[in-house]
Amino acid sequence: MIICRTIREVREAVGKEKSLSNTVSLVPTMGALHNGHLSLIETAKRNSEVVVVSIFVNPTQFAPNDDFNTYPREEERDIEKCRQSGVSIVFVPDRDDIYSDQSYLSIHIDQLNEHMCGKSRPGFFEGILQIVNKLFNIIQPDVAVFGQKDIQQFVILSIMAEEFNLPVRLIRAPTVRASDGLALSSRNAYLTDDERRIAPSLYRALVYIEKNILQGVHTPKMLISHQRMELETKGFNVDYLDVYSAKTLLPVETLREDNQYIIAGAVYLGKTRLIDNLMTKL
Ligand code: AMP
Repeated sequence: MIICRTIREVREAVGKEKSLSNTVSLVPTMGALHNGHLSLIETAKRNSEVVVVSIFVNPTQFAPNDDFNTYPREEERDIEKCRQSGVSIVFVPDRDDIYSDQSYLSIHIDQLNEHMCGKSRPGFFEGILQIVNKLFNIIQPDVAVFGQKDIQQFVILSIMAEEFNLPVRLIRAPTVRASDGLALSSRNAYLTDDERRIAPSLYRALVYIEKNILQGVHTPKMLISHQRMELETKGFNVDYLDVYSAKTLLPVETLREDNQYIIAGAVYLGKTRLIDNLMTKL
């Protein structure tokens, strides 16, 4: 496995593979790798000959009061996990190699970031588009793998790839969960024991909403507000909990046959923000 710390190094390593006609997939991460990330690597391995994992805690997707400084950083362990997973190239750039002091351009997002995480995290998805766009240009992968856990990210990136004709195929990998249903996340490390015990309630609320929708509740407003209240009673501070169109990412009042929906929620448990979602088709 090759460890690259600069853009020049990673371009050279990927270039060598491409010159051998090997296809390349990219798994972008912010490190603190868990089994969710490792499942993305497995998906990448099934879809290309060479897997590149990037590990970069991207400053431009954090707001001033976000957890950029405290975000878990476990570089050595991450690199070892990549090695054991059969990754070919790890890209661990320095901030200065990725960003200069002054940036003049950004990608504007219309509508797709007005709800879900975009609503409470201004600038978040612009920051993600900026870094993923850079990584695509640096590595020029044939395939890029992202997790369904960050579904709004996946939808917006897919639309970016389509609208800008990026020569990369995006793959959505399923959410990996702990045995009690909690979606794995690097931020779960922040949870106290008591918080960790109740954390799976978010997933259970989503499952309950989905079950009712599939049983015929096609106007789920009351159902959702009831689940929201239950979560609040348990000690969660609910940021959002709703059903969205998988195409437009707008909230949906009445669900229709043959359309795909995202049942999604974000909650604070103490200081920790948890997100989760299920995709459902009627
Ligand atoms: P992050 O390191 O949190 O930026 O995540 C890097 C990638 O891993 C993103 O595409 C996430 O959607 C994905 N990911 C994070 N958690 C999970 C999970 N529990 N299951 C599947 N993919 C995940």
